[in-house]
Amino acid sequence: MDGKRTTVRDMRRRNRSVLLSKLYFDGPLSRFELGQATGLSAASVSNLTGELVEEGLVVEAGSVDSDGGRPRILLRVSPGYGHVVGVDVGETRVRVELFDLSMAALPAKADLPFDSPLPTPEQAVEHILSGLATVTAGAGVNPAALLGVGIGVSGTVEQGAQVLVHAQTLGWDAVPLEAMVRAGTDAAIYVDNGATVLGQAEMWFGAGRGARHAVIVLVGSGVGAAVVTHGQSYRGATSGAGEWGHTTIVHGGRRCRCGAQGHLEAYVGAGAVLDRYRAARGGHPVPGLDEESALAALIAAADHSAPAAKVLDETADYLGTGIADLINLFNPEKIVLAGWAGLALGARLLPRIRQAAAAQALRRPYAQTSIELCELGSDAVAYGAATLPIARLLREGGMRAAAPLTAPVTRRGTVPPLAAEPA
Ligand SMILES: [Zn+2]
Repeated sequence: MDGKRTTVRDMRRRNRSVLLSKLYFDGPLSRFELGQATGLSAASVSNLTGELVEEGLVVEAGSVDSDGGRPRILLRVSPGYGHVVGVDVGETRVRVELFDLSMAALPAKADLPFDSPLPTPEQAVEHILSGLATVTAGAGVNPAALLGVGIGVSGTVEQGAQVLVHAQTLGWDAVPLEAMVRAGTDAAIYVDNGATVLGQAEMWFGAGRGARHAVIVLVGSGVGAAVVTHGQSYRGATSGAGEWGHTTIVHGGRRCRCGAQGHLEAYVGAGAVLDRYRAARGGHPVPGLDEESALAALIAAADHSAPAAKVLDETADYLGTGIADLINLFNPEKIVLAGWAGLALGARLLPRIRQAAAAQALRRPYAQTSIELCELGSDAVAYGAATLPIARLLREGGMRAAAPLTAPVTRRGTVPPLAAEPA
């Protein structure tokens, strides 16, 4: 291939990506404002936005008066340009949701519970494909015309020529989930860790907005974290970073689902909290039909039951201690507590969690951070997963070409680094 042509094309893609990202996160904006914000020349802005408008990716959105001059036309990304699907592969069910390009949810949703406590990859794939068919048919969207399907799963997701899921607690070992799903649909498939996709969504649209360095902590049945540094998700050598739930909080402590002892998840994961409550009740079962209702019952009981209050206080101490480790390791501007159990516990325990973190963290990094509850609700993994195909679209400036899936997570209002303009 001609090297110079590639360079010019790459530069065009980069500049389109810069403009598209700016419009996506901060639009509507005029061409003048786009030029000011991106440093691209008026000619480049005019030329490239012209292309984007022609392709239907960007549309006009009214106009504003300029000082004495002609009114300026505003541009924004067209929500109707295409649809994305987000899938949350949980331990008890698969949830599938459909969104337009602005991440507005369409009413079509599918919730498919698993029959067994430890779903096999084949059962998960069957549920994903069946949910995909349900939501696209329900909204009258052609599955082949989707911008993509994002899937959030628990465990480590190794990105590479083949995407492999290692979910030790489910017994999934090097599962080629992306290839398995792709065999049953024409849509582009993106797979990533549930905490990572939730983190991306909180950084784009939720409590992480405006931060460059943040940790999004996910507490549900499992426990994980998405570490964002310089606006990018920290992944490690094979995308295994962020397994905060499997860091040790008590040497030789409670047995974790992964087999090791004393991991944080064995103390603050929903199942572990309920186990500790059961033990505090002398082995009497905890009321509630599932983990969610049982945890709600425990929180409600804490007002009048000393054992319940003690279990919750200890949970806050463990969580705060684990968060202090994150503060000392990563010096984030924000810690966002997310996940259904994180929200339920945090609503009551946030002051005590902050107290415990303050006691264990170094003073300076603790003073520079804030610990907040997430803003996107208790069940935002499907929502977060749907941002995966959108991130790809923004990165490529709406042009089709291969780019590594593990490229930067841009935060709201940030755009990829500027490229020099073609001569
Ligand atoms: Zn563990």
